[in-house]
Amino acid sequence: MPKTTKFKTQKHKKIALNRIKALFDYASGLKPEDNVLADRYVYLARRIAMKYKLHIPAQLKKRYCPYCYSYRFFADNARVRTKNNRLIISCYNCRKHYRFPLIAPKSNKKSPLKTEVENGS
Ligand SMILES: [Zn+2]
Repeated sequence: MPKTTKFKTQKHKKIALNRIKALFDYASGLKPEDNVLADRYVYLARRIAMKYKLHIPAQLKKRYCPYCYSYRFFADNARVRTKNNRLIISCYNCRKHYRFPLIAPKSNKKSPLKTEVENGS
């Protein structure tokens, strides 16, 4: 029996991304007491992203711990601090820290608008 192939078109990927966003919306509406359900939503969102080879948007990625995959309820199971132009998010479940810069890295590429102004056209 021939093996069936599953095509993942752009249409399917768009639907999957909407589902991921919806799952994070559901999780954000929950109370910190329902952390098991919120963690389940994160698990499902990650599974959908893996199945359809999608990146979870950066804004949503900061809402769960990259080490233990628990949903972050800030001030309940996570803490946010700034230090040396970095944002540090600490997870109370796994005691790990997630750091990233607050200042965006400078790009060396010249923008096309700037070159037009310099040329005088
Ligand atoms: Zn964690």
